[in-house]
This record gives sequence, C-alpha cells and structure tokens, in this order.
Amino acid sequence: MPIITHRLLILGILSLCLYLLINFKGIASSFGSRNSGEKFISAKFLGNLPLIPSLTPTPTVIPTPTPVPLVGFCLNVPVLMYHHIQPEAEAQAKGQKALTVDSGAFDLQMGYLASHGYSAISAQQLVDALISHTQLSKSIVVTIDDGYSDIYQYAYPVLQKYHIIANLMIPTGLLGGADYMSWGQLEEMVHSGLVFVGDHTWSHYVVTHGSNDKIKYEIVTGKQQLQDHTGQNVDTFTYPYGAFNSNAISILQQEGIKGAFSEIPGHWQCDSFLMTLHRSRIGNAPLSAYGL
Ligand SMILES: [Zn+2]
Repeated sequence: MPIITHRLLILGILSLCLYLLINFKGIASSFGSRNSGEKFISAKFLGNLPLIPSLTPTPTVIPTPTPVPLVGFCLNVPVLMYHHIQPEAEAQAKGQKALTVDSGAFDLQMGYLASHGYSAISAQQLVDALISHTQLSKSIVVTIDDGYSDIYQYAYPVLQKYHIIANLMIPTGLLGGADYMSWGQLEEMVHSGLVFVGDHTWSHYVVTHGSNDKIKYEIVTGKQQLQDHTGQNVDTFTYPYGAFNSNAISILQQEGIKGAFSEIPGHWQCDSFLMTLHRSRIGNAPLSAYGL
C-alpha cells in the first residue's frame, strides 16, 4: 500500500508540472508578441474596453460577455480625437468647454508628438496599411471633427509650426455657417499639404437612423463635395456621435468607404475592424497621460 500511494503521488506531481508547463507556454506566447510593436495578434480576448494592451500583462485577463477581440493584422497606431481648439476663456464664454482643447495645450501636445519621434499620418495611410498588411514606424493619426472655424484660427498655425498632418472630419453642409470654417479656409489648409479630409456626412447625420436612401444621401453628398472642393480621394468616414450599426456599415462599403472611425477607445487598429477603428478622446492633459 505505501508503494502504490507513493507512485500515485509522483504521478500527480508530474501531471501538475506538465499542466503548468503547457499553460505557461500558451500564456507567454499570447502576450509576448504585443510588446514588440506591430505584429499579427492571435485571436485572444483582451477583455472589454479600453483595448490598450498592458505592457505588463498578467495571466488573469477575464473575458467579458461582449469582448472586442484584436484579431487579424493589427497596428499600434493611436488615433487622437479633437473637436474645438481655442483658448479656454473663449470656450467658456461660448459654452463649448466640454468639446474644447485649450489652444496652448494643443500647442504643447503637437510639440510633444514632434519631439518624441511620432510620424503623423493621414487616416487614409492608416487604412491603406491595414488593408495591405504594411508595417508602420511610430505613427499617429490626428483627427479633428466637425469643421469649426477655431480650427483654422488656432489649430492650423500649430500644425504649421510643427509640420503635423491632421485629418479634418467635415460635415460639408455645415461649412460657412456660424462658428464653422468656410470652404475657402478648408481649401487653403488642404493646399498646405498638412490637412486631409474625411467624410462626416452632409448634415452631421446619425447614420443609424432614417431610411437607407437618406443615409446614403448623407454619406455620398459629403464624400462628393469634399472630393470636388479638395481634389483628394475621400474613402474614409467618421461616424457622427460615434453611432454605427451593421446597416450603416454596409451602405458605407457600397459607396466605396474603406475605413471608418468610431469613438471606441483604444490604441490598436486591426484589419478585422476597419469599419469601426478606435480613437482616443483628448483633453487638456499632456499626451503622456494618454499613454503616448
Ligand atoms: Zn462630429
């Protein structure tokens, strides 16, 4: 009897060791690739938002009921989201503080990108790289939504100062209205080579509502007017209010849109979610506070 118990004990210990070895290798390989930048990432559930991979991962990631997997060809390219850029006092007076980054803070943020070796690229370049599985060196995408006049007045001089490329997501029907930039101002910025445009519908329309004809009209009119005014090929889109659904995605794809930006936070972009790319909402804090 003592011999049998002894053998069972040894067998048990060996089984445990084998189990730990197999699981440790699995855990190590699933996390190891993420520290080295742009790579294919296996279909591991990384938990719910935010989708910023931890640099010191632990094996205790627990899948949530609605996980967003990083699947396919993925690039670590943060997409920064801005709206108004103006002095804080002006934003306060206009009641626009919630969507404003102070112009002084914006200057510091763009200076940070320039001095930390970030390459600011167009939204189109990011989408093209994801489609063609092309690696990118340390890159970032600056997006500014809605076409407000303060962008021409306060953001454009900063972009010129640091030679930063920005992407303006324009609801074309609103240009020229009170508080919005004019077509002439947009065209001037585009001609500098620092500004690219993306479709943001004609009237800042919520594309999860209304008839398919109306949704299509909003998407196509915005895209066509931007192309006509700027000469740029427009096949990226940004969802007004971040709202999307499968119907909107299929209409966008039918109209030639190859990549679309949501407001889901996260620094990683994958070819498996080209139509719901992630963005980080930026406030007045230094960019280092956002993991950059
Ligand atoms: Zn918008």
